[in-house]
Order: sequence, then C-alpha cells, then structure tokens
Amino acid sequence: MGVPLVFDLQRFSVHDGPGIRTTVFFKGCPLACEWCHNPESQSYLPEKMRDQDGVLRMAGETYELDDLVSFLERDLLFYEQSKGGVTLSGGEPMAQDILFIRELLKRLKDKGISTAIDTSGFAPYENFQRVLPFTDLFLYDLKWMDDEKHRLFTGESNQIILENLRSLSEDGATICLRLPLLASLNDSIETMQAIQQWLKDHDVKIHSVNLLPYHAHAKGKYRALHKKWKTFKAPEPSHLETLVKLWQNAGYRTGMGGMMTGEHL
Ligand code: SF4
Repeated sequence: MGVPLVFDLQRFSVHDGPGIRTTVFFKGCPLACEWCHNPESQSYLPEKMRDQDGVLRMAGETYELDDLVSFLERDLLFYEQSKGGVTLSGGEPMAQDILFIRELLKRLKDKGISTAIDTSGFAPYENFQRVLPFTDLFLYDLKWMDDEKHRLFTGESNQIILENLRSLSEDGATICLRLPLLASLNDSIETMQAIQQWLKDHDVKIHSVNLLPYHAHAKGKYRALHKKWKTFKAPEPSHLETLVKLWQNAGYRTGMGGMMTGEHL
C-alpha cells in the first residue's frame, strides 16, 4: 500500500459537504483544469512554494495511516454535533493508492465518522467500487457536458466521468453533483438543461446539486509555483439566481458554494 502525499489538512471546513468537516487534500490529479483553485494539487510530487513574504515551504507531506486517523478523529465531537465528518479531496482522491484511501475511509467509519469524497470522477470505476461501502457521500464535479470543451479546458475527455457518474448512481451511492461555473463558458441555461436532460435520459439519481461559481483566490498560489495564471470570471449574481431557480424548478435540492445542510442526508 503506497502512502499518498497530502498538501493540506483543513479543519472546521463548511464548504466540502454537510456540517463541520475536516478536509484532507491529496496531492496529484490526472486532470489539468485551467481554472484549478489548488494548482499545487495537480502534481503527484512535492513542490516548493514561495509565499508573499518570501518564505519557502514544501507542498506535499506523507502521513502514516495511523497518524492521519488520529488527527482526523480529534474533532469527532464537532462532527457529531453538526452532522459533519471528514471529506477526502485534492487533487483527486480516487486517483491515489486506492488501498490507502479505502483503509482510511474504513477506519473513519469504524470510529463512527461520516465520510465524503470530493472527486472529478476521472478514475477507474473499480476504485469507486472499492470505496463505496465506506463512503456516505460523493461530491461529484461535472465541469462540461460538451466533450470537446472538456478536453480543451481540463486536458481530458469527460466520457469516463459521465460513465462513472451513471455507475455510481446505479450502485446506490449518495451523490451531490457539483457544477463549477465560469461566466460565458459553461454557465448557460442551455448547458444546465443539457445536464438535466442527460441525468433524466440515463436515470441518474442525485441527492442534490451544488453550484460553484468561480473565484480568483488562487492567484497567489500560481505565482508561488511559477505557474501561468489565466483569468476567468464568475457568473453575475443575478444569473446565478436564475440557475438556482432552474435547478429547483426541475425538482433538485440546490445549494451554492459548497455548503450543504446535514439534515438532508
Ligand atoms: S480536477 Fe480539481 S484538482 Fe484536478 S485539476 Fe481540476 S480543479 Fe484542479
């Protein structure tokens, strides 16, 4: 069993699933989204980053399983009181050593901790099957229905992502579909309707939809990594309101910005 790199452990997070959570950010992702909010998550190798004050730090540490579990169970009381838990994110948790990820989830479940996986869906389906019994919720990103645009902006086709989404639904997973939204690129009403039609045509059952408007908070990280920054825009608030209504009118529980309420789960 390999030990994946972790580039951040975020306690008291409220944007990665219901309630109060600790989010584990694994390093390494098979996609290369041009707007990625965590550019240090893309490489599977440790990376040096120089912050604004000129201090050099290394992104990417290994944690032995026991140490990681001990860290995550520290906030058990907060998880219980808020119906929260632990979210595995990244990077791409499903494209790490899956035996490590599975064992981590299993240990958390054994301790009564609720688990979620934040995924791009771009990984072999066998990996999803292995973690399914120990995962309460999948936060499943869908970036583009149009495959050509998906390739252009993420570097890969969306076919595996759509197939895995369908399979997860068939296998009874609880799925919150997350839609990262970039103004004038993937936020049109027609795009939303195409997603809704696809869900209907393939009988994909999702628990809820979460709209994730783009933000530019990661600009400093690109500088710190000497990576090229590309400018995108968030949809206008009035347009976001229209999109929320569109999803609600289609019968979906709809949230914004990663926040969910535990009572719905
Ligand atoms: S899937 Fe997520 S972590 Fe990977 S490149 Fe895209 S935005 Fe970044």
